[in-house]
Amino acid sequence: MKPTVALVGRPNVGKSTLFNRLTRSRDALVADQPGLTRDRHYGHGRVGSKPYLVVDTGGFEPVVDEGILFEMARQTLQAVDEADAVVFLVDGRTGLTPQDKIIANRLRQCSQPVYLAVNKAEGLAHSMAAAEFYELGLGEPMVISSAHGDGVREMMELVLEAFPEAEEESRAHHPKFAVIGRPNVGKSTLVNAILGEERVIAFDQAGTTRDSIYIDFERGDQTYTIIDTAGVRRRGKVSEAIEKFSVIKTMKAIEDANVAVLVLDAQLDISEQDATIAGFALEAGRALVVAVNKWDNLDAARKEEVKHEIARKLAFLDFAKFHYISALEGRGIADLFRSIDEAYQAAMCKLSTPKLTRVLKVAVERQAPPRVGLVRPKMRYAHQGGMNPPIIVVHGNALDSISESYTRYLEHTFRKVFKLQGTPLRVQYKSGD
Ligand code: GDP
Ligand code: GDP
Repeated sequence: MKPTVALVGRPNVGKSTLFNRLTRSRDALVADQPGLTRDRHYGHGRVGSKPYLVVDTGGFEPVVDEGILFEMARQTLQAVDEADAVVFLVDGRTGLTPQDKIIANRLRQCSQPVYLAVNKAEGLAHSMAAAEFYELGLGEPMVISSAHGDGVREMMELVLEAFPEAEEESRAHHPKFAVIGRPNVGKSTLVNAILGEERVIAFDQAGTTRDSIYIDFERGDQTYTIIDTAGVRRRGKVSEAIEKFSVIKTMKAIEDANVAVLVLDAQLDISEQDATIAGFALEAGRALVVAVNKWDNLDAARKEEVKHEIARKLAFLDFAKFHYISALEGRGIADLFRSIDEAYQAAMCKLSTPKLTRVLKVAVERQAPPRVGLVRPKMRYAHQGGMNPPIIVVHGNALDSISESYTRYLEHTFRKVFKLQGTPLRVQYKSGD
């Protein structure tokens, strides 16, 4: 599974600069969708064949900074505890500060590996820049420049050394879906309702609090794995404390699933957190089904209102199916499964080059890509470059400046012809062959 790397350090050492560098290439994959909240504290990246998630803890809660009294924000501590590795950034130009020492003291208690990075070191002699930071007791400092990129790749190679390569084909050959959503929307109730009906094959008790629970079960003659981010709460217990929401756990569950089931609470308004979680699934390219829960007990006016709000705030999920369900009463679950199956099939589809090329040609005949200056882009053929999400690579000439709206048009055409309901779809270009 993808490791999570948390960036920690006092303000102004360069965490967000490093974050941007570490996530830049992936960002380009998801065009800015209207209404999609981008959470700029969490991102995806890759060094060689090793993917990772990165968390910039700098954006969390104001940090209390009263000279020596330096407190790490609660969310920062949570991210540190949930991460697989920590990069502790210090400023090679300012030198060692009392705040650095306080953070180092806390980080020395971590069970995860902590890497000390001396930033802003472009143009500085490495040994000089590093010298005073040995006293933090976190091993040999790595000397980097986030702004210029010096040493960043080497640092990430070291950080990721202990983690395995990406295994593209290791994904389950049956639907593996993660039940995600903010606290109290009804995730555990839904998981219990699903499992109450089915034959459970294997139940994996999670190792640590930051892990989701994996349960294999059969429904009809189909096997599924459910990834339960809420952790099945003991049935029958009425008053449970509301879970502590963990973004990292949610992101890992999404990564590991081929379908995400986003649960919303129809009794409450769609919140920014709902949109952010949906955005994580979109960014990860996972198929998505939305379960609007607690649909019992609502009057007609409220139902209208909820549908209106969804249309307004979650417009960027237009590829996904929405179901109005009641986990408590076990209603709507059969339909939900039909969409999970459909989204899974769409996400894992295999499209041949001749078929894709035929559809491409028809699309181009109906509407040619607009000229850019004097050149008319030429599209020759298309092949499938990946699945979950399906990636369609269009080959030709002068394709570098194809507009966003033309790309949407192609996406829409491929989606319609191949009936790819429920999964994001990416169209990319390759010029010059
Ligand atoms: P954060 O508060 O830790 O997230 O720090 P920022 O990323 O916002 O950076 C703080 C300042 O340091 C900005 O003015 C950056 O341009 C600058 N900075 C970040 N990285 C470097 C670097 O590698 N070299 C230099 N010279 N400046 C940097
Ligand atoms: P989680 O934190 O997302 O796992 O949410 P829970 O499953 O613990 O549910 C939170 C609360 O919502 C509990 O009191 C549930 O009984 C209630 N709840 C869950 N599903 C429904 C539903 O379909 N209808 C109604 N009315 N309440 C529900």
